[in-house]
Amino acid sequence: MKLQKVIDEVIGKGADYCDVRKEKWDRTSLSLKDGEIEKFTQGGERGAIVRVLYEDGWGYVGTSDLDKLEEASERALSMAKGNNKYKKEKTGLAETKINEDEVEIKAAEDPLAVSAEEKIAFLRDIEDKDYVTSTDLRYGEAVVEKEIKTSEGTNVKMKIPRVMVYLIITGKSDTIQRASEGVGGTGGYELTERAHEKVEVVLDRLENLLEAEEPPSGNLPLIMDPKLAGVFAHEAFGHAAEGDLVAGGNSCLKGKIGEKVAADTVTIKDDPTVDGYGHFPYDDEGTKAKKRVLVKSGVLNDFILDRESAWKLEMESNGGARAEDFRVKPLVRMSNTVIESGDMKFEELIEEVDKGIYAKSSSGGQVNSAQGTFQFNAQEAYLIEDGEVKNPVRDVSFNGFTLETLQNIVGITDEKKDSMGHCGKGQTAQVGHTAPHILVSEVTVGGRE
Ligand SMILES: [Zn+2]
Repeated sequence: MKLQKVIDEVIGKGADYCDVRKEKWDRTSLSLKDGEIEKFTQGGERGAIVRVLYEDGWGYVGTSDLDKLEEASERALSMAKGNNKYKKEKTGLAETKINEDEVEIKAAEDPLAVSAEEKIAFLRDIEDKDYVTSTDLRYGEAVVEKEIKTSEGTNVKMKIPRVMVYLIITGKSDTIQRASEGVGGTGGYELTERAHEKVEVVLDRLENLLEAEEPPSGNLPLIMDPKLAGVFAHEAFGHAAEGDLVAGGNSCLKGKIGEKVAADTVTIKDDPTVDGYGHFPYDDEGTKAKKRVLVKSGVLNDFILDRESAWKLEMESNGGARAEDFRVKPLVRMSNTVIESGDMKFEELIEEVDKGIYAKSSSGGQVNSAQGTFQFNAQEAYLIEDGEVKNPVRDVSFNGFTLETLQNIVGITDEKKDSMGHCGKGQTAQVGHTAPHILVSEVTVGGRE
């Protein structure tokens, strides 16, 4: 009722559009470094943001004091009027369906009901090995309840619980190496069960890194494991498919819908409707979340769009607006990015390679979405010789042009795996990746500096 009053007043003063997003957060964040508690915070907060469009100017004011919502809305309106005066280009919001709904994503085991002692014990349970010199284990949960109300009549309420565990383990032989893995998703405390198997993955990886040799360099075939392929799809391709970057002229995909951008076997989706760390039922403008088929059998098919970028590109919003919390305005963000599986077995993929690299998981990199270039570091890698996986190599870095690399995908396996990540674009967003193993016929591989 109160939100409606705030909206009515702003519209009554001449604004073209107004929405209010009210949020209630419950969060726990816990980290254990070498078995000692380094950080343990637990708490809740509430707040709201008022967003106002006045002609071509936007105003946004967030507040953690819900009693001051009217003040916030007045400031947002005056900011919108001020911005309108100096605005060089027209803006607007693509038409969208009016939604009235209330959705709760269920947690099988309510993370808020699990005691702090139990959460700490869970992290302590992850045991050390001889060669391990340092462990850094993190647990985080966030349960958010949102209400989004717009001057057009949309009124959506939703509750989304998310849980994640992240493990970073450092070890030493003649060099110091570090391996990490995370699990996370939309749901409850039950998601932590998968962290135990990840411990084995990280320890195996660390052991391999400690005995790894220098990698070869040059233009070589490269197989990416599902985790690395997922990160590649997100970072190198997905960001370039974000509507705000496209509309702003900062994407190598601008004007390319309907054009071939990848090999015929490649289909890439971004799908907030499926289970995963990036799952949500409605976006932060109250638009129903929708699956976006970005690349369909090699052809660029869609972008990720909020209402403003959709207006600029004369398309329709597909629910791409996400905000980190009530302090900030939504931006166009990814959700769960998926590379569809193909028809090859992993062994068949390896057999295709005479001399190349099998790279697993990522440890950072750089992407230029406007130029369409990327550089990634693999966390773990192996030499492939005569169709067989050989000894481990470390510090593998590879780079190339995104569209050329997508065209050079010559093999995709028939199984997919899920992973999770945190995407930074000024704000943090929880995202999921799902991908098979992929074989790229040629990328530039080099050792890391
Ligand atoms: Zn990202």
